[in-house]
Amino acid sequence: MTQGRMQVSQDEDQRGHRITDVVRARAGKERPGPAEVVFSLDDVHVYYGGFLALRGVSLEINKHDITAFIGPSGCGKSTLIRCLNRMNDLIPGARVEGKILYNGQDLYGDDVDPVEVRRHIGMVFQKPNPFPKSVYDNIAFGPKAIGMQPESMDELVERSLRRAALWDEVKDKLRQNALALSGGQQQRLCIARAIAVSPDVILMDEPASALDPVSTARIEDLMGQLKQDYTIVIVTHNMQQAARISDRTAFFNTEAAEGTGDRTGLLVEVDRTDTLFTHPADRRTEDYITGRFG
Ligand code: ADP
Repeated sequence: MTQGRMQVSQDEDQRGHRITDVVRARAGKERPGPAEVVFSLDDVHVYYGGFLALRGVSLEINKHDITAFIGPSGCGKSTLIRCLNRMNDLIPGARVEGKILYNGQDLYGDDVDPVEVRRHIGMVFQKPNPFPKSVYDNIAFGPKAIGMQPESMDELVERSLRRAALWDEVKDKLRQNALALSGGQQQRLCIARAIAVSPDVILMDEPASALDPVSTARIEDLMGQLKQDYTIVIVTHNMQQAARISDRTAFFNTEAAEGTGDRTGLLVEVDRTDTLFTHPADRRTEDYITGRFG
């Protein structure tokens, strides 16, 4: 064992667990049978205008897995997660090259409606962003907007809030403004809002980084429950969080782009989380997870 790996094993998370113990304890709990691929990325490049932000990403994301994207700031994690539901379409100058298949279908095909894509592939952001409406209306808004006609909207609202582990805290406040909830509650409300339109995939871009440790733990526990029904992709700058909650981890880094001072992001490696944290294949991954990065 190298000195670096020793350092990893001594690294404790916020809950006082050693990171290697965390990943090893979870290692035996893999789903049996072959994995079903939800996203398949082949040689994906992303540009902002003339700037190549991310180059040559090829990876697969499996159904009912939690896949974590980790890596230093600016390596393209948010850029890539936004590609998965075509959120980058909304950024002027952003351009995606390469192939992204979603359930075998070209996500960027001419016949694909990005609005429909975002219905199936929901997103939760770093900063909770409830609408300035009641708790109830936050949940009911999406289903109404896409013309869902549930037998009972009340039931759909309750079910979504229960799935997001928020119902007990807000059942007597359904008509109150969502902005009056705590930050952690607002984030679970945003998760409930994403769930309400019955997505297949939930993308989470640093969903807990603005929250206190107790709220963070609740979001992490919730993700563990949600993966029974959804495929989850999470961007996190917190390695311990990736180790605690994810099944697979993709490590990204940057390299100097030729001829310019720009730094381009790239995927260094992707593997089962326990493998990536205990036996990384690439020296750059090892340096990062042992804190010798940069
Ligand atoms: P990360 O999430 O890993 O911190 P980002 O995906 O946010 O990285 O950023 C990757 C690179 O793309 C960075 O150099 C960043 O400055 C650049 N970038 C991100 N968003 C935009 C944007 N909307 N316009 C121009 N450049 C951007």
